[in-house]
Amino acid sequence: MPNYANNPDRASWLHVDPHSDFPIQNIPFGVFLTRDDVITIGTRIGDTAIDLGALQQLGYFDGIPLTEDIFLQDTLNDFIADGRQTWRAVRNRIAELFDANNPSLKSNIQHKNTVLFRLDEIEMKLPVQIGDYTDFYASKEHATNVGTMFRGKENALMPNWLHLPVGYHGRSSSIIPSNTPIKRPKGQTLPPASEAPVFGPSKAVDFELEMAFITTDANELGDTISIESAESYIFGLLLFNDWSARDIQRWEYVPLGPFLGKNFASSVSPWIVTLDALEPFRVASPKQSPEPLPYLQFKGSKSFDIHLEVAIQPENFKETIVTRSNFKYMYWNIAQQLAHHTVNGCPVNAGDMMGSGTISGPTADSYGSMLELAWKGERPVQLDNGTERNYIEDHDTVILRGYCKNKTVRIGFGEVRTKLLPA
Ligand code: MN
Repeated sequence: MPNYANNPDRASWLHVDPHSDFPIQNIPFGVFLTRDDVITIGTRIGDTAIDLGALQQLGYFDGIPLTEDIFLQDTLNDFIADGRQTWRAVRNRIAELFDANNPSLKSNIQHKNTVLFRLDEIEMKLPVQIGDYTDFYASKEHATNVGTMFRGKENALMPNWLHLPVGYHGRSSSIIPSNTPIKRPKGQTLPPASEAPVFGPSKAVDFELEMAFITTDANELGDTISIESAESYIFGLLLFNDWSARDIQRWEYVPLGPFLGKNFASSVSPWIVTLDALEPFRVASPKQSPEPLPYLQFKGSKSFDIHLEVAIQPENFKETIVTRSNFKYMYWNIAQQLAHHTVNGCPVNAGDMMGSGTISGPTADSYGSMLELAWKGERPVQLDNGTERNYIEDHDTVILRGYCKNKTVRIGFGEVRTKLLPA
């Protein structure tokens, strides 16, 4: 089925600001609570949220094979499990309904009052019930920076790093939607020059600038997903702030890897932007040398040109943008990540989430964490209110944003915003 929804010439009868992340070519999916306290699956055009459950009940999805309550749910999991043909048919229908030249819904005031909401009338929820969460470590710049800090320049990358997308299994219970504040975590740390650990609040709470992809049902136990087919099992992408307590992490991580320093919270943006919508923004991945093993070799453009930024907003002051990066810098792309994840027969289900790992660019102003931006405290980051930061302080709000842009269309992710409260 063609991807009509991406037609760059289409305008909507709903107002869309020229700088909006959500033109009619985006049509992301999310879950929200309406002014009437009803939870529903929805989409967004400009600053208008659209109740897809109500649209379906009014017959606007007739002709598309959907179960009756597919949008009247508190997660997108079942819709995601329906697969790519359904996602595409629904995006195409929404594009048609809100096309400036289509009067059917536009001229029906009663229907419009039922399905349309201002953003201040809704509350965004977590869009999927995340079954399993995996985090990769797929940015060469990030792995090199962290390796250089802890092992020196000569041994920055571990011997396996250029041969496989390194990852670990995270924890889904602490993945939270935007605007959910978190508490500074407590734990064990080893103070500098000490031989015994102490217990207390982390002194090194950090963000990680990441993106994450959400999968549909991909394979049965024992089966693998080829790199050629991997993308057809990816529903879409989110902004992902993988909160990290560096001092807890440093003491605990040997030999099994990240644990309590990572699993106290990770924040996601509320709207899942489909891989279909990102189609116009494909770019070549970084050249891989040495050549990866055959199951990780791919053809075509499998990276995406997504501009990313992080801002820190101190209490009662405006934000300062502390870094600008891009998703295209990732050394291991999402198709490689999913092919690698399933090469041993590990099953992947609808609603699983895979984080990219911190996305650092090549320059010191494009690093994806405070650990790197402030270089473990050696060059503090200056904020516009005259203060400086090595890590995130109590009452700071961290905001991640991302968007793609070409000559005709801008497709964005909005933002994920999280405030850090005291321990
Ligand atoms: Mn991470």
